[in-house]
Amino acid sequence: MQGGFALHHKILDQLGIESVAVKNSNHLNIIDGLIIPGGESTTISLLIKSNKMLKSLVDFGKQNPVMGTCAGLILMAKACNDKRIQTLGFLDIIISRNAFGRQINSKTELIDYTFGEKNIKKIPTTLIRAPKIEKINKNILILGKILENPVAILSGHFLGLTFHPELDGINLFHKILFDSNSDIFYKKINREYAA
Ligand code: GLN
Repeated sequence: MQGGFALHHKILDQLGIESVAVKNSNHLNIIDGLIIPGGESTTISLLIKSNKMLKSLVDFGKQNPVMGTCAGLILMAKACNDKRIQTLGFLDIIISRNAFGRQINSKTELIDYTFGEKNIKKIPTTLIRAPKIEKINKNILILGKILENPVAILSGHFLGLTFHPELDGINLFHKILFDSNSDIFYKKINREYAA
């Protein structure tokens, strides 16, 4: 409905995964995974409301993997500091919008990530007016951090990123949720943590 979805389609294409734009509840019936992109969380929230999609999105998330990048992550939280936003409650976190102000207004850092037993180093991580995860349920897996701030989290089949992997052409995070053959597929990561 709003935000940077084009590059997500491109990455899914590269992975051989078909994708469509979701603009109303009917579109949710033909997909088996969802990405809520970066953009403006207040606008996305308004559009979800005006298109009457809140309940269908919440229901969709009960069974299907959902990934949120930046504004998308804000929508996936249990609660947000900006009360104009009606969140979906997929991730048991409290989130603050635009929490870093100018400090990491827009920058790319090289960050090391841990995906279960696999470590991948120095992945470009681009933050643009990024939100901050203020409180996080201890059951949620933290895949990567910048200065003690989680930037990538996994909870069951929900993946939240405060950054934009699509801008750097990084497909690792899409693989986690949408590529069941990947050695970092979320079911595998969850099993490894549970073991
Ligand atoms: N600052 C935006 C918001 O709060 C998010 C920015 C982004 O998605 N890159 O909605």
